[in-house]
Amino acid sequence: VTGYDGQRVAVLGLGRSGLSAGRALRAGGAHVLAWDDNPEARDMAAEEGFEIKDLSRDGAFDDIACLIVSPGIPHLYPQPNKAVANALQAGVPVDNDIGLFFASLGGADWAVHDVAPRVVAVTGSNGKSTTSALIHHVLHEAGKDVQLAGNIGRGVLDIDPPGDGGVVVLELSSYQTELARALTPDVAVFTNLSPDHLDRHAGLGGYFAAKRRLFAEGGPDRAVIGIDEPEGLFMAGQLATAPGDDRVIRISVERKLAGPGWSVFARKGFLSEYRKGKQQGAIDLRDIKGLPGQHNHQNACAAYAACRSLGLSPKVIERAFHSFAGLPHRSQVIAEKDGVTFVNDSKATNVDSALKALNAFANIRWICGGLQKEGGLAGLEPGLRNVLKAYVIGRDAAQFALQLTGTEAETCTTMQTAVARAMADAQPGETVLLAPAAASFDQYDNFEKRGEDFIAQVRARL
Ligand code: ADP
Repeated sequence: VTGYDGQRVAVLGLGRSGLSAGRALRAGGAHVLAWDDNPEARDMAAEEGFEIKDLSRDGAFDDIACLIVSPGIPHLYPQPNKAVANALQAGVPVDNDIGLFFASLGGADWAVHDVAPRVVAVTGSNGKSTTSALIHHVLHEAGKDVQLAGNIGRGVLDIDPPGDGGVVVLELSSYQTELARALTPDVAVFTNLSPDHLDRHAGLGGYFAAKRRLFAEGGPDRAVIGIDEPEGLFMAGQLATAPGDDRVIRISVERKLAGPGWSVFARKGFLSEYRKGKQQGAIDLRDIKGLPGQHNHQNACAAYAACRSLGLSPKVIERAFHSFAGLPHRSQVIAEKDGVTFVNDSKATNVDSALKALNAFANIRWICGGLQKEGGLAGLEPGLRNVLKAYVIGRDAAQFALQLTGTEAETCTTMQTAVARAMADAQPGETVLLAPAAASFDQYDNFEKRGEDFIAQVRARL
């Protein structure tokens, strides 16, 4: 990144994205000062030759041009981060790797090619990774030079510039969109909205505002917006300046959208595209193995709309959908034995995604629990009709079990016990499902580790 050549730039948070931003800035001629509250992270940065500087000290930002903050750092709420407050007080702009990427797009970093790549950015509460991976897969199958980055795949500053006609698909969490100074994708996708990360965004309003930044004035040329929640519906209306406006593609899995604008919707397993009241394309999603359940039909609509925005034909998209393998830890069927199906949805870290998983299967032996999120299990009730029994794990197991009134629940605490108990109870025609509706950090480093433990515990008993 060349925008800070010859200047001093501070990087706060030395995880994957912080280090990658530091390296990119240094490669572009900046002098990088780095800080992380964790001494081990500091040691690693020092080994790479970054100057270590405590940014929470008074006066730390004299002579610094910019502060890059990692998405993992709560910088504003519940308490303002001292380093970020220092920077703001000194009038130093605060940004992140995503902002650096967008700011650099038209410039020297991409000048190896005549044309900057087009960028598709995907945000929303659930389905971001699946939708981003699906868009990437379709473009790749269509022969495009395409890179997947951001919250999935590689850090955005670590990718190689794609060739002419290339595309960068970026998955963006609310932690990333809230900070990036420049956010100018060609196509922006908003899958859906449900409460999550409220502790960091000061409630649902702050959380939506963070995602909404991707659709600001001067933002995307095309907005693909899920309208099954009021926020998306409202935003689509705000962005389309006239009823037949092509800038917005509305997507839905709940209603037929055949009005004057551009829309993609899925009903009863059929995806349809309408433009100016006329049907353009249709796909039967029912036998697409990598996209089971209504929630994945929503992801299919979003990916379809994004790919249509980039000029792909419905036929090419349909063909690529059939070869999409799905992502691990999301409604992933890991084994079938004696009529019992085992499904790993460790990524169901909030109530909405767990509800989708509970609705996608029947006769469920449900392994759930972990670190409870704000709001507990409120909203999950409709899914419980498919649950035969819950096997509750994690730090908040007792609290979880208490909320499951009307559903048989056993406190198992560990994954090992939960899998053993669920497998002992399971009969042919039933599904053993891990869909925790909770974060994993009480017992695991991340949701991937939790899913891998589930798979290992199941396999050990097959
Ligand atoms: P994200 O990247 O937004 O967390 P993922 O694609 O990783 O989204 O899916 C996260 C969780 O949500 C998984 O449990 C998955 O099965 C579920 N899920 C996937 N797509 C959707 C959707 N469109 N709506 C609700 N839940 C979904």
